[in-house]
Amino acid sequence: MKIMKPREASKELNVLRALNQRQAYSFEQKQNLLNMEKGLIGERQFDEMGEKYLEQECVMLQDLSLTIKGNTVQIDSVLLTSEVVYIFEVKNYEGDFIMKDGDIYTVAGQEISNPLTQLNRTSSLLRQLLQSWQVKMSIEGYVVFVNPACMLYHATPADPFIFYGQIQSRLTEINRRQRDEPWGIKKMKGLAEKLIEEHNKEGRIQIKRPAYTYEELRKGIRCLYCGKFDIRITQRRVYCKSCMQIISKDKVVISQIEEYFLLFPERKATVNNIYEWCGEKVNKERIQRILSTYYQKSALSVGTYYVQKGIVEEKREQSR
Ligand SMILES: [Zn+2]
Repeated sequence: MKIMKPREASKELNVLRALNQRQAYSFEQKQNLLNMEKGLIGERQFDEMGEKYLEQECVMLQDLSLTIKGNTVQIDSVLLTSEVVYIFEVKNYEGDFIMKDGDIYTVAGQEISNPLTQLNRTSSLLRQLLQSWQVKMSIEGYVVFVNPACMLYHATPADPFIFYGQIQSRLTEINRRQRDEPWGIKKMKGLAEKLIEEHNKEGRIQIKRPAYTYEELRKGIRCLYCGKFDIRITQRRVYCKSCMQIISKDKVVISQIEEYFLLFPERKATVNNIYEWCGEKVNKERIQRILSTYYQKSALSVGTYYVQKGIVEEKREQSR
């Protein structure tokens, strides 16, 4: 199995992680962040099992975002084989749940968002996309419950669920069904490339983010590894007193700049703004050097500011 699109923490999650350190987070906000982190851990567990049990030539695309006919879909894992496109909706639910009339409830009777609805919608839209590309492959969708401590009462064998104890055998079965046919493999890789291309278009679209302002966020340098502000800066290096990492100063400053771009896509990255964002802890000469080395000077304005490489060309392309 080849991973042609690896999983990364989503932009949404990175925004929440940054805000958690730079803002006073409420209990609900912390809970929401924890749930997202837990979801990512579950997805990574499923990725590991895929790598372990899928030995045949097939392609895994982890975390795809696509816009199909104006609808945005996010798919946790897409597995392409020569005949079938598998989509997996990965859930790290923990505890006991009950299925009733196709909906899922906690034992306390609270309805939770139904992964089946999501799966059906995703399958249907993906089917339409493949049809529009004249790709004739069947689609099979499953909800994977990766947590061994998840119990879903009244689920039937007809439901497209894969529980923790079934993951190995289901993946092994998919692996057994995959045939080593050159034309099938060529078709599969071509489709993977097209899907990645669609996903990359999606990356430029604005993400959902909670309300926050530049002014209210804490300025300063946070550790790349543990996210804490508990650091000591010397001439060349940064020491984290919290997780004991020693990091090069440039690397730390770049990560603050990346966070600035992530949190404030509309705000200009001037030397002064980045100096302030870093809590005035790194001198302007160094910030100037880092910006001009790793970023692209904007050619569109009089005052000098910098953008992430590749962004200027995109703007120009669009304005043509
Ligand atoms: Zn640290």
